[in-house]
Amino acid sequence: MVICIKDKIKNVNAVIGCNIGCRYCYAKAVAKRFHLVDDFTKPIADLHKLERLRKPGVYFLTGMSDLYLWKKEWVDKSFELLRESPRTVGIYLTKAPNKIKLDDVPDNAWMGVTITSKADLWRLKALKENIKCKNYHITFEPLFEDLGDIDLSGIKWIVIGTETGNCKGKIDAKKEWVDHLVNVAREYGCKIFFKEDLVYNIMGEEKSIQELTLEMEEALK
Ligand code: SF4
Repeated sequence: MVICIKDKIKNVNAVIGCNIGCRYCYAKAVAKRFHLVDDFTKPIADLHKLERLRKPGVYFLTGMSDLYLWKKEWVDKSFELLRESPRTVGIYLTKAPNKIKLDDVPDNAWMGVTITSKADLWRLKALKENIKCKNYHITFEPLFEDLGDIDLSGIKWIVIGTETGNCKGKIDAKKEWVDHLVNVAREYGCKIFFKEDLVYNIMGEEKSIQELTLEMEEALK
């Protein structure tokens, strides 16, 4: 059975807004549709939503924003709650690890970058240089090309997805790109999770891989 990632990993959208301007941005479309913010390019926060972190679980904290745009007090508050709830796993993503400096990160804060193409690979090095933490992950979504033999040392979990929606210039991931990435990730011992669109539209259920890390499994018990 294919797991919908939302069944396991809950979104806590305490921060809404981002100015990176990705062509395929789903968050911007959702924010506009539901009138969540006046100006999506100017992030705003409702820190009360972070209280959900007190209940053990796996929470994705940057589904409507990018960590590099979070004010220090927003980051601090989320870290404070994660420290108070050690079984909780908090997942953060950024596309601008070069603009972040963090060295006092709780062990249950999972820090990652998005990589969609070879042009993004610099983010891997920048992530580890600028954010010092115990648990790193990478999201390869949407995957736009074969990434070759990349260095995934120190990465514990990867998510792979294909572009969704019907945006102009849409690129579907190719099976061989995904197969190659899976082989590389296996060499490094990463857990691998395919998003459901990748399973249904590209890889097929028989080739589905949907692994969580031990810490995530523990948080969901
Ligand atoms: S980084 Fe994320 S939230 Fe920001 S524009 Fe890109 S897809 Fe949207």
